Amino acid sequence: MRKVLLLGASGSIGSQTLDILKKHGKRFELVGFSVGKRVETVPSILAAFPSVKWICVGARCDAEKLKIAYPCISFYSGDEGLSEIVGNADCDMVVNALVGFAGLVPSVKALRLGKILCLANKESLVVGGSLIRDLLNKGSGSLIPIDSEHVAIDKLLSRTPRDQIEKILITASGGSFRDRTRESLSNVTPEEALAHPTWSMGAKITIDSATMMNKGFEVIEAKWLFDYPLEETEILMHRESMVHSALRLQDGTFVADVSTPDMHVPIEYALMERDVDFELKHVHVLNELGSYHFGEFDSERYPAVGLALGAFKRGGNACAILNAANEIAVYAFLEKKIGFLDIEEIVSSALEGVPFVQNPSLDDLILTDLRTRQFANEEICRRHPQ
Ligand code: NAD
Ligand code: MG
Repeated sequence: MRKVLLLGASGSIGSQTLDILKKHGKRFELVGFSVGKRVETVPSILAAFPSVKWICVGARCDAEKLKIAYPCISFYSGDEGLSEIVGNADCDMVVNALVGFAGLVPSVKALRLGKILCLANKESLVVGGSLIRDLLNKGSGSLIPIDSEHVAIDKLLSRTPRDQIEKILITASGGSFRDRTRESLSNVTPEEALAHPTWSMGAKITIDSATMMNKGFEVIEAKWLFDYPLEETEILMHRESMVHSALRLQDGTFVADVSTPDMHVPIEYALMERDVDFELKHVHVLNELGSYHFGEFDSERYPAVGLALGAFKRGGNACAILNAANEIAVYAFLEKKIGFLDIEEIVSSALEGVPFVQNPSLDDLILTDLRTRQFANEEICRRHPQ
């Protein structure tokens, strides 16, 4: 029996994780969860999982109200609460389904405490990959990815000798504007950007998919997870999101991981600690999966990928700057304060304007995040005075 703490239970990955915990009810006990601002989801999660003893919510006043309704449960709130619940909940597995920088400290804390970390929050690795890699190399905790491309690569690497591999191919759908020219994007609305062609996901990652910052993040994520040279990792455009990633072998053949686009599959792989039966569950013959289309990645069409990889190559706190500026810009776009193409502009100015730190500690990364948020907000006001 694994005792599980689920961070981000009210989100897209979080709610699908609850489905997997229910499906394997004998193997898992949900002991705690967090829901951010969406406190209205607490009663239904508690009804489905009466084993819960620890809960974290966004606002302190909500934690106080809930404590009156559920006196036997320990409540926490805010960013500090997320860190405290990881420290206090009696669990052996932490599923991090938070979005954004908020996921970094809980990830680091879970590994420091020797937990199994099932990680959807890719921003943890983008910003703090070096710290996380150090912890894993020291044997402190273990990490299993949830991101579908990384689960695909994890599976493929486990079956392929390393010296046979020439390249890792990370597939990308191209997001909601893949059939439009870059020039036509200056006036697109958040509603249009949120209509992803193949996946139903939270708002932030859906916008990151439209800019393809998400794919830049995923190349960085793969680098920290699998320690492959950046030059040997390529982005492959693939419209249907059926091929979750592939390897090109030295002999010119390809091996690929193929299944319908459903995040339950990679979530189950991570939670079951890779011990799942990989039969295609939703289709029985390959032709049911339909036709696939592939294309070359165009770096000029999607400059966000270049910004991400440039920041990664620069090292230090550059990816923390990249991530924080991107978060501020994405939410400003969603709130219609800036245009879609401004997102990359804001990120680019932050990478130039926020001071560089060579070997950042966790505290340096937290400070960089704060400084960059301030910088990006000022930049938004300067460009778009209200
Ligand atoms: P979401 O927006 O649907 O859910 C995010 C969760 O985090 C919610 O529970 C929310 O309450 C909580 N949260 C957000 N900000 C918070 C804060 N500051 N403090 C505390 N809690 C906070 O997001 P999602 O789509 O489920 O994505 C979660 C993570 O998984 C992201 O890092 C994303 O990139 C990654 N991911 C998502 C998918 C997908 O299909 N949705 C696929 C691959 C990877
Ligand atoms: Mg992905």
